[in-house]
Amino acid sequence: MAPKIAVYARISRDDERDGLGVARQREDCERLAELRGWDIAKVYEDNDVSAFKRNVRRPEFELLLADLGNGLIDGLVAYDLDRLARQPKDLERLIDLYDERKQRVFATVTNDVNLSSADGRTMARVMVAFANKSSHDAARRIQRKHLELAQQGKPSGGPAPYGWLKDGRVDPEAAPHIREAQQRLLAGVRIGTIRTGWQNQGLGHPRKGTTRLAHHHVEHMLTNPRLCGFRTYHGEILLDDSGQPVRGDWEVINTVEEWEAVCAVVAERKRKDPGRSFARKYLLSGIARCGLCHVKIRGQVNRKWKPGSNAATFSYQCSVVNGGCGKVGRVGDPVDDFIISLVLAEQRAKAGERAAAPAHQWPNVAELAAVENDIAELTGAAKEKQITISTLLQLLPDLERRRDELKLERGRFNKEQQQTASLVADSDKDFKSLPIERQQALILHSLSAVLIHPAGRGKRKFDPDLIEPVWR
Ligand SMILES: [Zn+2]
Repeated sequence: MAPKIAVYARISRDDERDGLGVARQREDCERLAELRGWDIAKVYEDNDVSAFKRNVRRPEFELLLADLGNGLIDGLVAYDLDRLARQPKDLERLIDLYDERKQRVFATVTNDVNLSSADGRTMARVMVAFANKSSHDAARRIQRKHLELAQQGKPSGGPAPYGWLKDGRVDPEAAPHIREAQQRLLAGVRIGTIRTGWQNQGLGHPRKGTTRLAHHHVEHMLTNPRLCGFRTYHGEILLDDSGQPVRGDWEVINTVEEWEAVCAVVAERKRKDPGRSFARKYLLSGIARCGLCHVKIRGQVNRKWKPGSNAATFSYQCSVVNGGCGKVGRVGDPVDDFIISLVLAEQRAKAGERAAAPAHQWPNVAELAAVENDIAELTGAAKEKQITISTLLQLLPDLERRRDELKLERGRFNKEQQQTASLVADSDKDFKSLPIERQQALILHSLSAVLIHPAGRGKRKFDPDLIEPVWR
């Protein structure tokens, strides 16, 4: 039976300069595993964590050691020894595992060491001790192969990227998810929100064995030049001799225009918001207010974990730091659920009224018609010389002003009608699956605030009477 192995990739700041991103490390590792006939059980990735710095914990590396130790995997492939272990301490932990079971397999893309042999272990110790980088012959060979395939517009092998089947045809299940996510991105939804949704639905896994979906994975899947048929090499669009993008021989998911629009949105957001926060947003942050001091309340993660649950709970807590009294707080989920059910009930009831009533019409249709009629009669009378031009000019401005006011009012009315229609359409979908920004907009359409009143001491049970919605 083929050994089940792990791929380990790590990106450090230097790698970006060298063009050795995690994706490329992983690709090369996967290619190597394939050549050896090994099965990849799992991909472990540490982002931007230096293996060289002491006291830096690499969570995925730790997990890798644990999985090797308990036999979940039979070996590993990494890009090179540098990526894997630069600290003698880390190397010794790995070597212990290889000493313990001789059948474990090991390979690096650069072929710089082999921990599964005694000589290799000695070599590794020397290399780590002198932080010595070794020959990159194998890496160069694989790079040359990549470039060759790229220039021919051929996929470079390895598993099919998310959205496509192995033969280059569009994956009929995955492609609609990509297109939908792109539409949402264009509509203002953040990549983080899309990432969470995909993660929960198990979508977007670029390679088997990858369980965690990183922000940059999702960004890449939605902006990959491959989507419109462009071949890339090391992340750059590959150009042919005449300077035109090399087209791949696979089916496209986007037109060039569609793909460019998505890239433009992502680039624009990065420019505007370079240091965006990854903090979780809570539904009623900034909508909820303290019932005592009326200062806005934000959600915050509870330090204590809810027993029997592996998810952290959160609370809406009046905070002294934000200028509040700090005396009022409530566990968040029941508050959210209560408010969501209230708002949806109200919006559904309104939608029902609208459906029952005859089509809602702007109430001042008759007045506008009368004003326009007056204007026409006056100008007509002046033409017929029934009134003087000076009389016309005295009467006309007031009528014209009123006409313009009414038209503006009609425009606003129509806009409002359309917005409510789209709001209701959305509330029929599962509210919680909407992006948080959209959920907040829906809440704010009905409520101007939610007051959270103090609960008595020792009160444990959620009491909806202490949550006061302020309707618009
Ligand atoms: Zn307060």
